Amino acid sequence: MAKSEEMTKDTAKLGIRLLQSIVEHGPLSIIASGVDGSMLYANANALTMLGISGDEIPEKTIDSFFSSEESWRSVRSQLMAGVHVRESVVMERSGRKRLDARVLAFAVFEDGVPRIFVFLIEDETPEMQEAEEQARKNVEMAKVNSELIRSNTELRRLSELKSSFLSIASHELKTPLTSIKGYSDIIMDTMRDRIDPSVLRMVENINRAANRLHKVVNNILDVTRIEQKRLRLQPENIDLKVLVDEAVEELADMNASRRISFDTTFAEDLPMLFGDKMRMQQVFVNLFSNAAKFSPDESTIDVRVSMENPETFHIVVHDRGIGIDKADQKRIFDPFYEVGAATHHSTHSSRYLGGGTGLGLSIVRGIVEYHGGRIWVDSRGTVEGEFPGSAFHVLLPVKKLSVGRQKDEDRLLNVVVDETMSPDDTLAIVEEKPKVLLIDNDQESSDAARMVLESVFDVLSVSTGEEALPLAFQERPSLIILESNLPGLDGYRVCRILRGQEETRETPIAFLSGSIAEEEIHECFASGADDFIVKPFTKNELMDKIWRILMKKKEDAQFRSV
Ligand code: ADP
Repeated sequence: MAKSEEMTKDTAKLGIRLLQSIVEHGPLSIIASGVDGSMLYANANALTMLGISGDEIPEKTIDSFFSSEESWRSVRSQLMAGVHVRESVVMERSGRKRLDARVLAFAVFEDGVPRIFVFLIEDETPEMQEAEEQARKNVEMAKVNSELIRSNTELRRLSELKSSFLSIASHELKTPLTSIKGYSDIIMDTMRDRIDPSVLRMVENINRAANRLHKVVNNILDVTRIEQKRLRLQPENIDLKVLVDEAVEELADMNASRRISFDTTFAEDLPMLFGDKMRMQQVFVNLFSNAAKFSPDESTIDVRVSMENPETFHIVVHDRGIGIDKADQKRIFDPFYEVGAATHHSTHSSRYLGGGTGLGLSIVRGIVEYHGGRIWVDSRGTVEGEFPGSAFHVLLPVKKLSVGRQKDEDRLLNVVVDETMSPDDTLAIVEEKPKVLLIDNDQESSDAARMVLESVFDVLSVSTGEEALPLAFQERPSLIILESNLPGLDGYRVCRILRGQEETRETPIAFLSGSIAEEEIHECFASGADDFIVKPFTKNELMDKIWRILMKKKEDAQFRSV
């Protein structure tokens, strides 16, 4: 036999085997019978469907599976006439329920005579339909699930994008806002008598608007810091009574016109809270101003500080205001969530019409949780024309801060605290002191700055720019503090040179200056400084300013890397 002929035969055999296995194991039930109905073949599916074994085939006739003689006869006569039959029929099965089937049947003809009937049968019993329905539902469910997973991932990505966008936008806003605020402050402080009163009023409006915007920007930055787990705490021992009283005092002016008063109660012998004073102040001011905002005129707000147990404070701020519906009670702690329109917050007896940013409570919750605490609200809900009131509850551990581990380079900026630390330990974490380069030719102010800085920094002190430059490139200090009015190379030129060099391009630089003249401030920023410190300064002012410069520098670096 020729080789090509052999190959054709092999291919044909392979094709037949393939067809056989499709017929044998495919999803359809396939039966072949003689024209008298005697069964010749049934594939695996058909055997299962009919409830018989392969050995029983020779004894069976296909007509025995049709529920009526009539139905079989009708199918058979059509097949004999060469018609392809498509019909729903009921079939009987050995020892099993009747089968609702959809049959496609045809006859195979030889020399114009029908020889074999072929039946392709689809099970349509309710169980089968249910099973199919279930399978279809499962597929749909799987689709929905994967869709949910996709949209969850997408939501998370969008939320991260939103946080980054908000922080970048807020940062971009901060710089021009600082100029607007700074310049309007200067005009109001130093030129009040020299300018037209109508211009002064405009400047005052600009200043107020800048202050409002500044608050919003700071709130957005706080929310994103909390969301991105970047909030830094500077803990110390705090007397809660003093803090609560200070917060009430801060709002006194605002509340006086509406005759809203605060009634505070403190448990005896309250321990000190180990926490971040400024942040806790923010918590109380937010809660108290909300309580006042949503209360009618002349109402009283109760503030109670007690101990839930020896380790936990329980603070309740209870107002007699418009209340909060159950559905909103969880959501008000979400960023940007406000209940309904601002006008609905009208207390009827006051002119106040809500209108915040919906950020306050999310910041409050973030700060409380950073301190290891919990916050929730209790209210009967809102009732038209009534003031059911709301009670905000805060549980705060006496001492437990949930601050994560910091990387080495972060140490300078982050006070790392864990439960076993005392407040005095907080700075001890900085094993090797960071370096600060102090350039000041005025002995008195240089000594004063040095004394303050030495508690935290390794201070390198020189009195001229010429000495400072090589030291800055060699020692790579974490911060440079520079007098503007230096002999020889003046401060601005030194700053420009430092900014032009790779080693010191990103180093935070602050000017020390005895003058707040406009040109001086302008020149200081124009030469590349991050901030300036006005002489004379107190210890707190200097340290506060330095922390801020370092924090800002770090945030800027983080945003550049986003
Ligand atoms: P906002 O800056 O809008 O006040 P908050 O996050 O502080 O944002 O509050 C979110 C919303 O929670 C408010 O808009 C208000 O609807 C509701 N809310 C907060 N505190 C109170 C309160 N004491 N009584 C009634 N509603 C309140």
